[in-house]
Amino acid sequence: MNLCDIGEIKALLARHGFHFSKGLGQNFLRDARIPQAIAENANIGRQTGVLEVGPGIGALTQQLCRRARRVAAVELDRRLPPVLAETMAEFDNLTVVEGDILKTDIPALCRRELGPGPWVACANLPYYITTPALSALIESRCFGSVTVMVQKEVAQRICARAATAEYGAFSVYCQYHGAPQIVLQVPAGCFVPAPKVDSAVVRLDLYPAGQNPLGPVDQALFFRVVRAAFGQRRKMLSNCLRQGFPQLAKEQILECLTDAGLPEKVRGEQLDLAQFARLTEEIGRRISADNPAAGEGR
Ligand code: SAM
Repeated sequence: MNLCDIGEIKALLARHGFHFSKGLGQNFLRDARIPQAIAENANIGRQTGVLEVGPGIGALTQQLCRRARRVAAVELDRRLPPVLAETMAEFDNLTVVEGDILKTDIPALCRRELGPGPWVACANLPYYITTPALSALIESRCFGSVTVMVQKEVAQRICARAATAEYGAFSVYCQYHGAPQIVLQVPAGCFVPAPKVDSAVVRLDLYPAGQNPLGPVDQALFFRVVRAAFGQRRKMLSNCLRQGFPQLAKEQILECLTDAGLPEKVRGEQLDLAQFARLTEEIGRRISADNPAAGEGR
């Protein structure tokens, strides 16, 4: 069955009495070149186990099954597993798991359904949960890479460099955990129904534990600094930090900036990740000096 042929999709869905749910972010791929290109770019080898989020009727799933050792696909819509049982019948390396990816114990699922690693994640994400779903995949620490279709603007934010309009806390978050790149642009017309926005596929190659190029960083404090820095985007970083770290005096904040090699009037969005790490070190030092029992208080 050609799962990207619009006539076949319509006939299949009519047979199963299926209607698209906008609320579940159901935009299925209808251009066969796209799922093929996503799977080709997802770091999948013969021994790889793949976790897919939201298989839909299986356009991407079949490309993953053709390349991987095993595929586990988590689908929230209970109407779809019976459709997948028909469309994926030829594959014996697929398990469809009914459930919500945001409520799934991802490491347990991967161990149970995928067996030994390496594992990667690959998905045409439902856009209403892009940020929490991508965060859950990253924080599961299961995957060598995560390849996801997201809204084009989100892809640009994930990959954005410092001092650009797209750069924000989510860019820093993703780039802290891995090296992202846009591997494919996907116009809205490649989906049925067509969404209002264009899409892009991002591959995030995740850093193995302890191999972050920033070196050892107090992660909790780093993200506290980043949240404070982007909290009020138009303000100078020194003012943002005063709000975020009320226990530090104005002079101490300015000292942190100077000692981190930053100008006093710099704005948060101008800092790259290495500069955030350097600043985190300086702030951490002041906090610990003021309160030697700090640490957990961060
Ligand atoms: N993979 C298919 C494709 O590329 O044609 C469908 C992608 S569609 C954009 C998103 C899919 O995610 C839908 O099948 C939808 O039912 C499913 N979904 C929505 N929310 C979900 C959730 N929280 N957990 C798992 N799947 C979800």
